[in-house]
Amino acid sequence: MLDPLNDSYYLASAGDYRPDEPLIADIKADICIIGGGFTGLSAAVACAEARLDVVLLEAEHIGFAASGRNGGQMIPGFNMAAMDLIKLVGEDVGQQLYHLAMSARDRVHARIERHGIDCDLQHGHIHLAAKKSDFAYLEDEVAFSDRLLGRGEAVLVAPTDIDQYVNVAGYHGGIYVPKGGHLHPLKYARGLKRAAKSAGARIFEGSRAVSIREGEKVLIRTISGSVTASNVFLACDTETGDLATKAGRYTMPVLNYIIATEPLREDRARALIPSNAAVSDSRFVLNYFRLSADNRLLFAGGEKYTPKPPEDIAAFVQPYMLKLFPQLADARIHYAWGGMVGITVNRLPHIGRAGNTLFAHGYSGQGVLLTTLVGELLAELLKGDSRNFDLFEKIPHRGFPGGKLLRSPTYVVGMLYSAMMDRL
Ligand SMILES: Cc1cc2nc3c(=O)[nH]c(=O)nc-3n(C[C@H](O)[C@H](O)[C@H](O)COP(=O)(O)OP(=O)(O)OC[C@H]3O[C@@H](n4cnc5c(N)ncnc54)[C@H](O)[C@@H]3O)c2cc1C
Repeated sequence: MLDPLNDSYYLASAGDYRPDEPLIADIKADICIIGGGFTGLSAAVACAEARLDVVLLEAEHIGFAASGRNGGQMIPGFNMAAMDLIKLVGEDVGQQLYHLAMSARDRVHARIERHGIDCDLQHGHIHLAAKKSDFAYLEDEVAFSDRLLGRGEAVLVAPTDIDQYVNVAGYHGGIYVPKGGHLHPLKYARGLKRAAKSAGARIFEGSRAVSIREGEKVLIRTISGSVTASNVFLACDTETGDLATKAGRYTMPVLNYIIATEPLREDRARALIPSNAAVSDSRFVLNYFRLSADNRLLFAGGEKYTPKPPEDIAAFVQPYMLKLFPQLADARIHYAWGGMVGITVNRLPHIGRAGNTLFAHGYSGQGVLLTTLVGELLAELLKGDSRNFDLFEKIPHRGFPGGKLLRSPTYVVGMLYSAMMDRL
């Protein structure tokens, strides 16, 4: 049966796919990676390239969850301004983390090039200020970027210049990052899978890990097999808590929805986003959008904090699109889908280790680039250099209050409050 949350433009446009066979044996590995999204796949590529014996278990198929459904926006950095990061962790650690996060975009570009991944890559990301005070904040961010990375990495866009990048009204300026961009996430995920396999990783799909027994060696069981490994890496984002309750407390799944219009005529599409950049805004419940390779507008917006998706996702998201682009009133919506975003309280990813169990989750809507960084840092760690991976353990995290069932209502209250402040 078609999953109503996964009737995505990506599945329809990524080409035919044959998943790999499930695990039906008891096998051994240096590292067992659980999850075949960007985090798990990029870890598999990096570890296999570092000559480790890698097994990856994916419950469904590669790119099944957020990694195959997201906006494809390549947004450099964390979901927290660098200045705030430094306030949180101090100048030294903050600068190191900032440089690492900013290195993620080059790492993704390098991967795409090295492995010849055809994923509709486009350059440029613009973040728009929804309020005047947000623009003042962006000015500070650009000054900060100039100081740490050099001029030109982030460009301040005056309110009167927005239309050179995107034709929307009602914003107060923005920040343009030439090295941001967008890609087709499912094609990227499948490309990473090919790269991992050609480097020697063994990948099993339809293979849900159901239990982990810790010890000198870790024993991971699926319904029909097992992996005994020196280390296990939990790369299951919003489902981390099913295997590791302690780490799972630090993320909360939030449903987010995207629609894709019918293909627009080239000139009509360009008139919407002349720069062809990925676009997002500074609202708490943000709008984000971009063009696809075949000139559809892919648009995400709106807020709904119940665990149940709307009956009609297209009808739910379309009004937000028409508010910004009323000229699209006649454009038919061809696809509408959704997925779970794993968020943390402070919006920074929760990455760390306990013994030989390692985990990374909660990228808070900015995982397209950061996941590749994390995969590479994991390989570094397993080869004996833990400096970069362990920097993430210096980020103070708070768990969401309550167990799995209680976390959600508490969070809903917080989100509704922030969304209300947005409107004010
Ligand atoms: C609608 C939406 C839009 C988004 N837009 C953007 C965007 O534009 N830009 C951006 O940077 N980020 C965006 N994000 C966030 C980004 O997609 C995620 O941060 C990123 O994909 C997380 O990758 P991951 O590999 O850690 O997790 P996932 O992609 O969720 O992968 C986890 C995998 O683990 C598997 N799994 C879970 N449990 C088990 C188990 N027990 N055994 C085996 N396998 C298991 C799942 O099936 C899944 O395939 C968006 C997310 C969503 C949902």
